[in-house]
Amino acid sequence: MGSERLTRKQTGHSLFYMGEEKANLIALSLFPDDADSPHLVGIARIASHSAVADTGHLTEYRALNVHSVLNAVISKRGVPFGRSINPYRGCEFGCRYCFARYTHEFMELRDPLLFERQIFVKQNAAWLLKQELRKLRRGEEIAMGTATDPYQPVERRARVTRSLLEVLAECRGLRLGIISKSTLIVRDIDLLRKFAEHNQLTVHVSITTPNTPLARILEPRAPRPDLRFQTVAKLRQAGIRVGILCCPIMPGINDGPAAFEAMAKRAKEADACFMAANPLYLKPCSKGTFLAFVREHFPELEASYEKRYGEAAFVSKAYRKRVSDMLAAVMRKYKLGERYGEPRTFPERTETGEQMSFWPE
Ligand code: SF4
Repeated sequence: MGSERLTRKQTGHSLFYMGEEKANLIALSLFPDDADSPHLVGIARIASHSAVADTGHLTEYRALNVHSVLNAVISKRGVPFGRSINPYRGCEFGCRYCFARYTHEFMELRDPLLFERQIFVKQNAAWLLKQELRKLRRGEEIAMGTATDPYQPVERRARVTRSLLEVLAECRGLRLGIISKSTLIVRDIDLLRKFAEHNQLTVHVSITTPNTPLARILEPRAPRPDLRFQTVAKLRQAGIRVGILCCPIMPGINDGPAAFEAMAKRAKEADACFMAANPLYLKPCSKGTFLAFVREHFPELEASYEKRYGEAAFVSKAYRKRVSDMLAAVMRKYKLGERYGEPRTFPERTETGEQMSFWPE
């Protein structure tokens, strides 16, 4: 089809530049003609009415009108935060193991590829957050980026994450954890420091491997690992508490003592405060995508993955213990701290903005 532009009338939807892949994407993705039908409820119905705001390389961005941006977290897995904020739905980084693909299923978008290629931008997010701040208790922990990267490429233009940080930076006595793979987070160092003056902030930079070719196939559109280590160093230089999330640990791919050693060494060189690691969690929504990746790039591991994750989303207790022992050994060796430390006080304002008075050594 070349680069022919189709009109709304021709597609039944909105304007698109049509390459072959994008044509396939439209065929896969765009909302069915019966989008107004009563079977769509809640967020699926809202999503079905969202307008295309922009398009990028193989990606479509849609404006999503939501009623809330501060979600209560209900988890049986003992997560340490009670609230989460995700400025977007979907994530362009397209990590092959991403378990957040299920969030598109809530919108009745069941093709796993749509999670990476149809990104929803929450509208009026800062205004909504301001209205919702009264729900927060002092010391309550919020996690930003649990189901989508808050600094994925669209944030450069949409600036939703930045607008939320502007609101949070005026608050007192909150705890915020941000998770990202992106170098873009350094753009917001000013706001992160401002927030940290009166609240507790921990940034988690997600790096699964220092090996660039491996990262390229695992996390095809995320920044290179060396750039992510540099991001850790820059945030540390700005006085921000930042650590490395080496997640997920994938059997036979990025596990083993040598892999842990390489990660911990780089984490120390970047002055990371801590390093954490968790084994791969393979929900049904991500299983097909991940197993296709294994089949293509690690065919010799396919049978063992089928066996390991055949009946369960989690690895065995024994494997979890091996991972936690390997992690503990390198953390001791490189004197890396724990991800969760109990803060004793809220920080006082300092000259430099350095988070001195909490997260004790
Ligand atoms: S960066 Fe995070 S949310 Fe985005 S695709 Fe990768 S794992 Fe999923």
